[in-house]
Amino acid sequence: MTETIRAGDQVLLALEDGKTFLIRIDRGKRHSSHRGTVDHDNVIGRDWGTTLTLNTGAAAFLLRPRWIDKMMKVHRRTNIMYPKDVAFLLADLDLGPGSRVIEIGSGSGAMTQALVGAVLPGGAVFSYDRREDFLELAERNCRLAGVRTGVEFRARGAGEELEPDVDAVFCDIPEPWVELQVIGEALRGSGRFAAADSEELERSIHSTGFFRQKAKSLKNCCTRLVQEHGGEVPTSMEALTALPGVGRKTANVIRAVAFGLPGIAVDTHCKRLSNRLELAVSTDPARIEACLARLYPESRWADVSRLFIWHGRYTCKARRPLCEQCSLADLCPFYHARDTESISCRPK
Ligand code: SF4
Repeated sequence: MTETIRAGDQVLLALEDGKTFLIRIDRGKRHSSHRGTVDHDNVIGRDWGTTLTLNTGAAAFLLRPRWIDKMMKVHRRTNIMYPKDVAFLLADLDLGPGSRVIEIGSGSGAMTQALVGAVLPGGAVFSYDRREDFLELAERNCRLAGVRTGVEFRARGAGEELEPDVDAVFCDIPEPWVELQVIGEALRGSGRFAAADSEELERSIHSTGFFRQKAKSLKNCCTRLVQEHGGEVPTSMEALTALPGVGRKTANVIRAVAFGLPGIAVDTHCKRLSNRLELAVSTDPARIEACLARLYPESRWADVSRLFIWHGRYTCKARRPLCEQCSLADLCPFYHARDTESISCRPK
């Protein structure tokens, strides 16, 4: 006997132009689209896969939604994993019926649905998020997709205890390294761990520019931190600059800001200002750093970086320095060397 569509079912309404809509069928409701209207009552009792004629005469196919349709059409407030990444992760985590898996970062619940689909029957998903609103959204999306068993949503802060004795952990949060200790404690022997892939990372840092290269460096850097430093960030200049994507500037920022150690970060602003003030005459950041380090005591190095960067960014700008507002004008060789006729910013 062919199974028919019932009230409460989710149906993928596919139109002839390729547009699809995931709708829940409820008695007395209607769904309107650019190609016409569907009465839900007219759908109930029909066979899956049949063709319906809309009020405009256009055809619509009544399809049983795949988990990929449900996943891609969740109500989202976060980026979601894309199907090819999900498929890879399910294989990489070796999930199957009976597996117990932890998800850190419920997000919109899209990945949760895929995890539940993989581990049932007999398995369980423990989905954690520190934000109650994300937990509610993920739970609601799962419920709408018909996922009612096999998952527990739990509120939890970073680094807090996890469900013990699991086969796999999937971590989809911006700082997975803070969870490594507790993940190790939760996993069974030979358990598997995976974190969000580069594309997810790229989407998160897109606005910073050069996001592809940065995502690659971040991923490689995290791998090296775990493999070579036990998940801890090293403090020495030598160890920091050996990490992928970390140069002297970044290393000095980490040393000064994260560890309170001496460090002068020479960025483009610090470089320009140092040259204009003739504190260092060089284009090489390492030489400028060395010059500034000789001029100021170690206890002031972090302040030197910060003040030079901010002054360069907002006053001693590259193209039109605001010399008339600059408190360093009297001391500045660049300012005094400029020809009065050609300098628009110089006070008359
Ligand atoms: S006087 Fe002008 S060039 Fe000199 S430091 Fe100030 S803003 Fe820069």
